[in-house]
Amino acid sequence: MKKNDSEKVGDPPVKDFAQRLLAWHSVHGRHDLPWQHPRTPYRVWVAEVMLQQTQVQTVIPYFARFMARFADVEALAAADVSEVLALWSGLGYYARGRNLHRAAQQIVAEGGFPMDRLGWEALSGIGRSTAAAIVAQAYGQREAILDGNVKRVLCRLFGVEGWAGERAVSERLWMLAEQLLPAECELMPDYTQAQMDLGATVCTRSRPRCEVCPFEKDCVAVQQNRVSELPTPRPRKALPVREVMWQICVNDDRVWLVERDQGGLWGGLHVFAQVETPRGVPLPPFRHTFTHFHLDIAPYLWHTHLPNPTPDTGAWWPLQEALALPLPAPVKKLLMEVQDES
Ligand code: SF4
Repeated sequence: MKKNDSEKVGDPPVKDFAQRLLAWHSVHGRHDLPWQHPRTPYRVWVAEVMLQQTQVQTVIPYFARFMARFADVEALAAADVSEVLALWSGLGYYARGRNLHRAAQQIVAEGGFPMDRLGWEALSGIGRSTAAAIVAQAYGQREAILDGNVKRVLCRLFGVEGWAGERAVSERLWMLAEQLLPAECELMPDYTQAQMDLGATVCTRSRPRCEVCPFEKDCVAVQQNRVSELPTPRPRKALPVREVMWQICVNDDRVWLVERDQGGLWGGLHVFAQVETPRGVPLPPFRHTFTHFHLDIAPYLWHTHLPNPTPDTGAWWPLQEALALPLPAPVKKLLMEVQDES
């Protein structure tokens, strides 16, 4: 096959793709995920939002705690956003938690869950693929998903070139995803899960297990020996680096934390004071990477009994209580280290 043959729009999809994927899934797929039992709109929605950017194994305990505290959308809508963020603490991408809470209030205000993909897309923080994943799993609607796992599989299987963030590439992938859908609505919940499972467990980012993939014989990337080149990565751009010094103030078993304003980076979360001139003992510096920049953090541990140890408005928290607050992952990690030392 010539290199570009696979790139023409309108390629016939792999024969019997859905049936073969489902056959694979019935033996090797995940059938015991907590949000599958039962697959209600509420549970599927919360799970899909948590699964954006986060792996299944990480999500499971967060999902369980979330469901234990907020049994339904009414409970979630009525909660204070700080409690939602506290349960989100450590999962990252906190805008998801804030949007989930806002969307719960929208749903309650509108008298119930949206009944189709476009209705879900109108809610805070829900894009096309997440909306499709919800209606496909909760209602059995024929909607294609295109999350990171599915993009990777399609790029390799069909030899799709170019970064998926480019419009033409994205349109081609959506078209393929739609062409491959099974005809029967009742297959949609398992089919949707099967796509995610194949990408997460077989067609993995590094070292995919092509020898156990049901599509090995059809796969353009395998035929052309280009598995490691596809999908085409985002064009490289060096991330900018920002540097901060964090003042960890400790007063016996209490710690000084500052609550950030809502909105913006780590909005509504509790952090250490950021200072120009630190005091106390330097702890090992480390890097935390966001999508758009690296944050190089230099923490300083200072034992003090001052009532207001930093210019920022903050509060003294008993360590145990501090650990239950909504915290960014690097703050939580440092607090746990402080706790181990004390
Ligand atoms: S054969 Fe390999 S590269 Fe192709 S879809 Fe399967 S796991 Fe992915």
